[in-house]
Amino acid sequence: MHDVIPTVAFPSGISVPALGQGTWNMGEDASHAKGEIESLQAGIDLGMTLIDTAEMYADGGAEEIVGTAIKGRRDEVFLVSKVYPWNAGRDGVVEACERSLKRMKTDHIDLYLLHWRGSHPLTETVAGFESLKRAGKIGAWGVSNFDVDDMKELLSLPDGGNVAANQVLYNLGRRGIEFDLLPWCQARHIPVMAYSPIEQGRLAHHPDLIHIGKACQATPAQVALAFVLGRQGVIAIPKTAQVSRARENREAASIRLTEADYAALDAAFPPPKNKKPLEMI
Ligand code: NDP
Repeated sequence: MHDVIPTVAFPSGISVPALGQGTWNMGEDASHAKGEIESLQAGIDLGMTLIDTAEMYADGGAEEIVGTAIKGRRDEVFLVSKVYPWNAGRDGVVEACERSLKRMKTDHIDLYLLHWRGSHPLTETVAGFESLKRAGKIGAWGVSNFDVDDMKELLSLPDGGNVAANQVLYNLGRRGIEFDLLPWCQARHIPVMAYSPIEQGRLAHHPDLIHIGKACQATPAQVALAFVLGRQGVIAIPKTAQVSRARENREAASIRLTEADYAALDAAFPPPKNKKPLEMI
């Protein structure tokens, strides 16, 4: 019997599960498509209904996989996609969104993110996002890979305060955001989406996590996910193309880390003592 997945509320009031699904590397190889689709569908069945993708992944191939996986059940899913920075001009962002919608065979994206900062002025990108919102093609917009200074700049712009989320690298081995970005976002009720929460699979083999996991009867990947899920206002989006791992990752929501577990995790993966520039993968 598993616990209900905790939820995180967006500024609009919409709540989503704090444990979703990533899709990077999906859609690269047609022979893997079946497994990728089945894994995403199993994840939805298990309540991991937030799906994160991007026009970048497999040049749109991941969005096509997502479109197939959610066919007939669009309403169950909270769909997140991302625009390349070089497509993020006022009109470019609208055209990129139209292409993403077509690939995913849907008429709206729930949350549309700027993948990382590029050369288009943020005012242009925000204006494009806002026009997409007015047209009902996106429910909300946000950013990715924005550090505190970027967020402050964004919030100083017209409509910049409508930012709904910031998706950044966050896992036990990459705790830099705990120093400033995470508390900054938490104080403003801007959800943080933690990408690569298992450090692209590497934390699943980490000796310290194997050891700590034994104490709480969890796999290393589950401990890594439980750690991220334990943070207020954080959404973890692990990617897997294996149904058994989707089940395993889902069970991370049922793991209660104790004070002793947290102490062991801090010893193995020390929290930051000072400001570190935001890391990116
Ligand atoms: P993750 O930390 O989610 O790790 C994914 C890797 O771990 C895959 O190789 C997967 O293999 C493996 N894995 C998954 N579950 C388990 C498990 N229980 N045990 C062992 N191995 C496991 O890395 P990602 O980089 O994929 O990050 C997650 C998502 O975040 C991406 O898919 C993407 O949607 C998003 N992202 C966003 C970025 C941005 O710039 N905004 C940058 C990077 C990621 P397998 O599939 O074979 O199970």
